[in-house]
Amino acid sequence: MTPPRKTPPKLTPMLAQYLEIKSEHAGALLLFRMGDFYETFFEDAEVLARVANVTLTTRDKNSEHPIPLAGVPYHALDTYLGRLLAAGLTVAICEQVEDPAQAKGLVRREVVEVISPGTATAPGLVSGASGHYCLAWLPVDGEAEDNGWALMDASTGDFRCGQEDVSLAGLCERHAVREVVVAETAGERDLNAWRAALPGVVINRVSAAWFHPAFAAGTLRDHFGMRSLDAFGLAEGEHDRAVAAAGALLRYVSSLSLARPVQVTTLSFAARRDRLLLDEETLRNLEVFRTFRGDRGEGTLIHHIDRTMTPAGRRLLERRLAEPLHDLQRLGEWHAAVAGALDDREWRREARTRLAGIGDLERWATRAAAGRLGPAQARQLGLSLMTVAALRDLIADADHQRHPAADWASGMPDLAPLGVRLLDTLADQPPAQVKGAGIVREGVHVELDETRSLASDTRGFLASLQARERERTGIPTLKIGFNKVFGYYFEVTNKHLDKVPEDFEQRQTLVNASRFHTPQLKTAESRILDAEQRMQELEQAIYAELLAAVASRLAEIRAAAAVVAAVDLVFAFAELAEERDYCRPVCDDSLILDIRGGRHPVVECLLDSDFIPNDCALDVDRRQLLLLTGPNMGGKSTYLRQVALITLMAQAGGFVPAAEARIGVADRIFTRVGASDNVARGQSTFYAEMSETARILHQSTGRSLVILDEIGRGTSTHDGLSLAWAITEFLHDEAGPRPRTIFATHFHELTDLEGRLSRLVNLRLGVKEWEGKIIFLHTVQPGRSDKSYGIHVAQLAGIPAPVLRRAADLLAALTLDGDDAARRATAAEPQRYSLAADREFPPHQQLSLFNDGERDALEALKGLDLESLSPVDAFMWLVRIRRQLDRPDGS
Ligand code: ATP
Repeated sequence: MTPPRKTPPKLTPMLAQYLEIKSEHAGALLLFRMGDFYETFFEDAEVLARVANVTLTTRDKNSEHPIPLAGVPYHALDTYLGRLLAAGLTVAICEQVEDPAQAKGLVRREVVEVISPGTATAPGLVSGASGHYCLAWLPVDGEAEDNGWALMDASTGDFRCGQEDVSLAGLCERHAVREVVVAETAGERDLNAWRAALPGVVINRVSAAWFHPAFAAGTLRDHFGMRSLDAFGLAEGEHDRAVAAAGALLRYVSSLSLARPVQVTTLSFAARRDRLLLDEETLRNLEVFRTFRGDRGEGTLIHHIDRTMTPAGRRLLERRLAEPLHDLQRLGEWHAAVAGALDDREWRREARTRLAGIGDLERWATRAAAGRLGPAQARQLGLSLMTVAALRDLIADADHQRHPAADWASGMPDLAPLGVRLLDTLADQPPAQVKGAGIVREGVHVELDETRSLASDTRGFLASLQARERERTGIPTLKIGFNKVFGYYFEVTNKHLDKVPEDFEQRQTLVNASRFHTPQLKTAESRILDAEQRMQELEQAIYAELLAAVASRLAEIRAAAAVVAAVDLVFAFAELAEERDYCRPVCDDSLILDIRGGRHPVVECLLDSDFIPNDCALDVDRRQLLLLTGPNMGGKSTYLRQVALITLMAQAGGFVPAAEARIGVADRIFTRVGASDNVARGQSTFYAEMSETARILHQSTGRSLVILDEIGRGTSTHDGLSLAWAITEFLHDEAGPRPRTIFATHFHELTDLEGRLSRLVNLRLGVKEWEGKIIFLHTVQPGRSDKSYGIHVAQLAGIPAPVLRRAADLLAALTLDGDDAARRATAAEPQRYSLAADREFPPHQQLSLFNDGERDALEALKGLDLESLSPVDAFMWLVRIRRQLDRPDGS
């Protein structure tokens, strides 16, 4: 028997309308407004139900073709949008664009906004004070040597581009990127690799034509209304790849913003020489924005040094840490500005109080220009503009004319009149939504005031009508009510229905009561409704004019926000310097790095005990390569990172955690730290280590700072040592780049290079043993260390005693001279373990923490007869012992 044939589904007019709109936005999830809900159908409904965790139902359950359906209430749109965007979806919002009550037939609907994860602008959808970027990526191909990139934060209007040897992951790590767009011609393999390397970032493909340099240049010229892009430093034919990426990005964002122009007013070209370059490994290794575990917040540099008061200030700090400065003049200006703000505490306090009153100018103004800023936030914008004016007066006052910030502030546009206009026009407590009532204050517009009083008089009239009708009818509970379907009505409870007069016309019957109209009530109703509609029209028109006034000054508001951000960051750096006792660094063009009493800015905050400061003297001509040895847990990694972080913080324009610091500015900081797999990119631990090292050897220059924390540990000891040895020689060699380098290693053999390589200096981290315990001194001293005390650290970490004992035996055997091969072989015989046996690692089996010299000194101290020792003898004894200990080998 043949199965019954299903008849094709018949589309209702509404579904036909849905499908037509959906076909125009096929790549987006379509939220289709129906009354108080945004509905989705078919596959979109399934996606919405899964991602937003809402119930999936079906329309026309009993039909042969039930249609999947899921919806969300309109008032909770932002919450659901947040979830959808976080899941990487692009969402098209389709509204009813005519009043359903007035519509003849099907209500007209249109997509009013398309939002992708990287182009959101609404306050609830962008990430707090941080940046929120979409990135266009044009990777190297064929002849081209540089990758082209462009970044846009649609919520602030920040738009930048560049072309250089950077990686996609590096850009994403530096700039809070949420979405990447690439040409549709990008291969699946590349796409998969990028997706694997960038969890949490959406990658979308767009037309390859958008990336064509000539087409892209046209897109940019049209948008900015310019005949050439020279003013942006993008002369024709130069920087084609940066132009291509910028044009493609602008076109992509325009395609989403439908008819509205994209609110970007300028484009900045990031020239490579302007910045200290930090790749993603370095940002990760130094835990600038995220900890090793990938968490933001505690443990990251930015978390511990951020004292900014405004969102724009916070974003500038992020930018400075991602791309510190390189230009000496700007650095000098910044350090002078921080010094001035540090010295004048009262000025700083007042400035920070004013800064606290300034909200997110850039985002509010950008939303206002797009016609989307709610009245409540428009009022906040007005208040902030007034505070900006007050800040400018304070910063540029007569007492501080020589301060760099005074110079910045005095060039600021005067936006107080716009602030006054916003505050004078808007009510004291305006609604959050653009469509809300009560936006405009009284006294602003004559007709609006008249219409309002008419409406309120009519309400007064209704109150007296109710009183009169109660008296006339003798119904004490008679009341006037309103609903959307029947308008105004008299309500009479069943108990008094017999008293209803003849002119009451019945409209609705409820369980306990009935509702009636009268001609008088109808007249009042239409007067109120007309007045309300007129009020709304007038308020909307006045508000639209207000937003247009903000839009006309968008570029100036952005310029003011840039000054506010800089002033905020200067005062934040000063605040931090005072709180943590930081010093003003001296930046120059030498190839010296001289830090006295340096500290790690994050570790010092997290330690329960005091942080031990250390010096660092690097100098390309004499101390180019510092080779650091010392015990596990001695503080090597902390020291390496603190040197890199101090350099980074100085070049970010701030003060640094040190007593003194002279920083010959670096062009790049490279770090190679520990063992890290890059399984996502199909790289083994050792391969990842070597490819990072290869990059350093190829790309570092004489102006770079290179931090190497272990090299060659992921392979056999001899392979690793040989590689580490050759790499050290290469970095030191005259023919090589000769960057300033600190190399921490447990390959103690490398310390033999001191003396053979003229600019290599050995350093070690101090450790002491006291009453059988290890004491890490955390002091960096001249000299070499010949032990790693790994077994002791293993003991501290809780490795069972039999394992430790066995390891100690093996270590003793393995480090015997060659002619003791027989004993070594015996020691290597497999051993049987008994965990039930004594759990102690007997002290007599502990490895000595001391070299011979130190042991002698200890013995001499123990044997000292304190009773008979004169102060002079004691002093002489100390001098002798100290000399003995200062000898590198302790002899
Ligand atoms: P390993 O060789 O095992 O990697 P390491 O020598 O690199 O060890 P670190 O990780 O730098 O050692 O430091 C270990 C711990 O010592 C740090 O977590 C910190 O608590 C403490 N420490 C490091 N340096 C200092 C310092 N200068 N002052 C105080 N404590 C410090």
